[in-house]
Amino acid sequence: MKTVLKIENLDCPVCAEALQSELQKIKGVVDVQVEYITQTITLSYENETALQKVIAKANKFEDVRVLDGGVPPTKRKNTHTKAWMCIVIAALFFVGGTLLEYLARGTLAEALRYVLYALAYLSVGYPVLISTAKNLVKGRVFDENFLMTVASVGAIALGEFGEGVLVMLLYQLGELLQSIAVGSSRNSVAELMELKSEYATVVVDGVQRLVPPEELSVGDVVLVKAGERVPADGILLSEIAALDVKSLTGEADLRMCKTGDELLSGSINAGGVYEMKITRPYKDSAVSRILDMVENASSGKAAPEKFIAKFARIYTPAVCIFAVLLAVCAPLCNGLIADNRLYFKNVDVWIRSALTFLVISCPCALVISVPLTYFSGIGTCAKQGILVKGATYLDVVAKTRIAAFDKTGTLTEGNFTVCGVRLAKHRPHSENELLSLVAAVESGSSHPIARAFASVPFVHSTENVSEYAGQGMSATVCGKNVLVGNETLLRSHGISVEKVESVYTLVHVAEDGEYLGAVEIGDKLRENAKTAVAALKQQGVLRSVMLTGDSAQRAQSIAEEVGIDETYVQLLPDEKHLKAKELKKAGVLLYVGDGINDAPVMMAADCAVSMGTLGSAAAIEASDMVLISDDLTALPKALRVAKKTRRIVLQNIIFSIAMKVAFMVLGAGSILPLWLAVFADVGVMLLAVCNSFRVRSKK
Ligand code: ADP
Ligand code: MG
Repeated sequence: MKTVLKIENLDCPVCAEALQSELQKIKGVVDVQVEYITQTITLSYENETALQKVIAKANKFEDVRVLDGGVPPTKRKNTHTKAWMCIVIAALFFVGGTLLEYLARGTLAEALRYVLYALAYLSVGYPVLISTAKNLVKGRVFDENFLMTVASVGAIALGEFGEGVLVMLLYQLGELLQSIAVGSSRNSVAELMELKSEYATVVVDGVQRLVPPEELSVGDVVLVKAGERVPADGILLSEIAALDVKSLTGEADLRMCKTGDELLSGSINAGGVYEMKITRPYKDSAVSRILDMVENASSGKAAPEKFIAKFARIYTPAVCIFAVLLAVCAPLCNGLIADNRLYFKNVDVWIRSALTFLVISCPCALVISVPLTYFSGIGTCAKQGILVKGATYLDVVAKTRIAAFDKTGTLTEGNFTVCGVRLAKHRPHSENELLSLVAAVESGSSHPIARAFASVPFVHSTENVSEYAGQGMSATVCGKNVLVGNETLLRSHGISVEKVESVYTLVHVAEDGEYLGAVEIGDKLRENAKTAVAALKQQGVLRSVMLTGDSAQRAQSIAEEVGIDETYVQLLPDEKHLKAKELKKAGVLLYVGDGINDAPVMMAADCAVSMGTLGSAAAIEASDMVLISDDLTALPKALRVAKKTRRIVLQNIIFSIAMKVAFMVLGAGSILPLWLAVFADVGVMLLAVCNSFRVRSKK
């Protein structure tokens, strides 16, 4: 069984990891992922007892609360107000103490100073001290709380009371600012959650009833009032509707729809009241897919994320061990070298360096900013109508060198219409007879081509209908074997096809081994296909490729119109797959398809993109990215966001590590006061987190 538990007050990545390893130990837990940014526990478990144990354990972990877990949620804002208050009070005591130190002399003044410092230290440091004690009991060392306790207590022991207080004060200030920053990122993604309507107005026999979107079923007639969101995907019944699709595509323009047009859930009614018919249940609708994907996005970790997680695991203990060496061995060496005698020389200086090292050993800047950057990247994409299934794919997309497209349904709209009939010479059929024959056979297919014949009337009954993926159909009609499909299909049945010049896609027809002719069907190019391909080139994509099962003539003319560099035609689904593997050798391959006959290629590509509304549910499963509104120009946008995300992640990694090294050198040389080390640590973390905000900016 699988479930996702929402939690709150999980405040640092290290805590998330600690909680995860505690939960992992529970019997009956198969797999568990604790996510700090999305504040979720993704759990697969064997039985109800295990689930209850997980909830109980999580509720006991620090301040963590499992929502809907029987414990009332705490108000987040209040936690911040309280933290601010503690910091301000501590700061006042600290300033008072410092003033006394410089202005007044005498025992009384000194005693008062100690009291003020102690009050300052306790008012800001008590949560840290308590956590440290609790964690030590549980055998967890090396977390931030522990490091800060050792550093501040160490400073106090060395007689630097003021410095000890300052360490704690700065650390808590940093924690608070970090929590606010992360909260702001969470909120920006949480806005997406508002895409879901609270209720839908269903009309049954003229009576209106309010139901939650989940309870809508296909065929329901729903009334959407001005300002309301479309609750689930469907088609328009009223004459006209104006929809604001900004929250789905990121573009601030109105979309005008007329009767029969598809309405995407999540868009807002910007006009008067209209009626619609539901065509997909809520769980398959655009809104629900967006929300699912955003919530699960953090599961696919990108390479840099894995790198820093590993780095932090080695880095912190290593620096701590070094700190101990610095405190013990360095004074011994100092004594040996200076006075040629084995004793501890300059102990306080070296211990101070060691404490600085402890402070620097905190990998916070990296551990927080890198996942946060990816999270913001995925959220930014979602706001522009691009669903990304995980940080890994955001990373891969950024490196795209070759973009391959499917033709039907991807570069073209996939809405075929019959444009003409070419009868073979000396055949007894009329055009209408041929059309209705094809319509009879195609009624057994769900391919976009088959839909072109949906309105053609037919009388024949069909038997033994079978579909050749990427080729066409065969069936028995009135006792005769009929083939309907492309040249490849007919040839493979030993039927030769008469050459016809046509700008359309040809559907050839044969009956009992005899060629009857072809139906010309037309398919409009997608509006933005050309702009999208050009924009991809600007984003550093080197080659654009078309892989299609259609004939060369039609494919070539589309390739020219769209500006595709290379075209490969008459490919069967597994030939497309082989071609994709070959293309992949030359660089990172992005494949865009509508999911009909191209699931195998999607598996082969480095990153598979599917069209959201047309695409089949299976394709959306197999793909790594989904373009919700079928707009190809979302692709270059995704590429831009992905590149920016990657750039910022690299900047943060390099910046944070460089700063750590610099402070280590200064710290080892005892040049750096302890409080400055904390200040720098917090500063680097905040700079890195703020840098991650840049992903969200429009430019
Ligand atoms: P594409 O690669 O362009 O997206 P497909 O792989 O889905 O196209 O199909 C390739 C070709 O196979 C089509 O261009 C068409 O000629 C033929 N074909 C596939 N399915 C059918 C069908 N149901 N009826 C007629 N022809 C079909
Ligand atoms: Mg296709």
